[in-house]
Amino acid sequence: MASPEALQLGARLDEHHLPETNGRIAVCRRCGGRTDSPLGRKHVPDERQLARTIAWLDAQSRIGRIARVNGSTDRPGAAEVGRGFGLR
Ligand SMILES: [Zn+2]
Repeated sequence: MASPEALQLGARLDEHHLPETNGRIAVCRRCGGRTDSPLGRKHVPDERQLARTIAWLDAQSRIGRIARVNGSTDRPGAAEVGRGFGLR
């Protein structure tokens, strides 16, 4: 089961971006974190991923400020690949 720390980090990741899976494996390919299911409705980071995922999120929040200025929360390339799998 996921620990409170993992759930909290999962919520932070969900705020940052929607999980992007390939529809078959429960892993988000943007942050590399585990998701609740292969459909990737929310992040559920693995205990062993916590430190790495927190570091990833910190780095992204610095980059994210630039992306938001451009009026998009998604990198153009990543968004297009995600749609290709019919996630939504
Ligand atoms: Zn993610």
